[in-house]
Amino acid sequence: MIATEAKDFEDILKALSEADSIYIVGCGDCAAVLQTGGEFEIAEMKDRLEQVGKTVTGTVVPEVTCQVLDVKRLLRHDREAVEKADAILVLACGAGIQAVADVVENRPVIAGLDSLFSANKFRAGQFYEWCSACGECIVDQYGGICPITRCPKGQLNGPCGGTNQGKCEVDPEKDCVWTLIYRRAGQLGVKDVVDEHLADAKDYTKSTRPRQRVFEPRRT
Ligand code: SF4
Ligand code: SF4
Repeated sequence: MIATEAKDFEDILKALSEADSIYIVGCGDCAAVLQTGGEFEIAEMKDRLEQVGKTVTGTVVPEVTCQVLDVKRLLRHDREAVEKADAILVLACGAGIQAVADVVENRPVIAGLDSLFSANKFRAGQFYEWCSACGECIVDQYGGICPITRCPKGQLNGPCGGTNQGKCEVDPEKDCVWTLIYRRAGQLGVKDVVDEHLADAKDYTKSTRPRQRVFEPRRT
């Protein structure tokens, strides 16, 4: 899922300075789990906007806001409320915000959240970046741990000179990713394989943006 965090309310108000009436869109998927754009946060945002004198013409929390056709259907259904609004405020990741902008062509669309990273969730409130979507997954060469993402320097051939007692020099609170990789290789009995491994040059053309994946879906 995509990790997001709320923008400062004062910054949102600044972006909405020309708008007296606002329609709010959330996201029932990632932003709901991250507690940034689910039903609760949308109701809270509505209250806060009303407290500073704005009119909220309507709200909606699509199941998955990056699904453009679903968003189109929902906003068409609520057309009257959307058209009464001077601006649309979206509490979703950048993909969701752009889905709304694609659908609502004649109103400014304002971002209420910042998008951070593709997240692995552990417990509630604990989200970590473990994958950078590089387009050429090599985690099987590292015991299932990604050095591209989980090392600040993306060290593919062993730790940098700054590793200290198993910790990372960039953030001493964290284990060096190579501590994790060696520990895992030990568990798997493949330490030698990791020691002898020399990574091929990474093909970063595979992560040239913007990327797309377009295919003929299987009929079910
Ligand atoms: S190698 Fe790392 S960044 Fe690339 S796809 Fe695999 S987990 Fe993601
Ligand atoms: S100490 Fe380890 S995790 Fe930190 S930058 Fe160096 S190699 Fe990467």
